[in-house]
Amino acid sequence: MAGDDKRQSVRRGVLLVISSPSGAGKTTLSRNLLEAEKNIAMSVSVTTRPRRQSEIEGSHYFFKSVPEFAFMRDSGQLLEWAEVHGNFYGTPRDAVMKALAQGQDVLFDIDVQGTHQLAAAMPEDVVRVFVLPPSIDEMRRRLKRRAEDDDATIIRRLRTAETELRHWDDYDYVIVNDDLDRAFSELRAILDAERLRRVRRPAIKRLVEQLQHDLAAVVAAN
Ligand code: ADP
Ligand code: 5GP
Repeated sequence: MAGDDKRQSVRRGVLLVISSPSGAGKTTLSRNLLEAEKNIAMSVSVTTRPRRQSEIEGSHYFFKSVPEFAFMRDSGQLLEWAEVHGNFYGTPRDAVMKALAQGQDVLFDIDVQGTHQLAAAMPEDVVRVFVLPPSIDEMRRRLKRRAEDDDATIIRRLRTAETELRHWDDYDYVIVNDDLDRAFSELRAILDAERLRRVRRPAIKRLVEQLQHDLAAVVAAN
């Protein structure tokens, strides 16, 4: 009974997907959110892409062979999966379901195909946020300032951005990342509001029943 009570009062987690054309600020906003919020964790995907030197197994990705990935996919262990630039990527189901049930929110860095599948599979749980740059000139300046990519890679990212931008209206919320502080406040406001949704708060039903019960007693006595 005590266990039941505890489960009843736990809020259902939010599955938060943030997407943006490269250079708009998705990584910065996600990093700030993970630092500021205790109750949100990054979903760690599986991938067949080779590990980059800076990446840590189990932290950035779980690195798998193609047969290992195929086994996970075919045995239903992935909530969604996609092929991106010739490599496979997918979201392990168990970790997400566990987080949801414990009332922990999960942040995703997945492509548009994966976002589409995730939203179809978990329509009540997924919240999609699209981050726009204030202008293409500013987005290019940011990509140059970030100094991570050579000119050819920046051009490739801008080409991909054309496709990504087309999907902006699949999303529930849009943030224009002009001033970073304001954009971050908006992201937190979205998460705060989504956490308050009735469907994520099963314990509220019990409070309402108690209020109704007490109100009926007061009305009857007067
Ligand atoms: P993305 O993940 O969307 O490719 P990043 O978060 O890596 O983008 O941001 C690209 C660059 O722009 C980074 O150097 C980051 O520090 C900078 N940046 C992000 N948001 C802003 C902002 N609002 N104003 C100015 N620079 C920003
Ligand atoms: P990268 O190889 O640069 O880490 O990621 C390449 C692309 O794969 C990015 O657009 C990233 O969002 C996407 N991606 C990473 N993990 C997943 C996943 O689990 N599912 C899907 N659908 N895409 C993913």
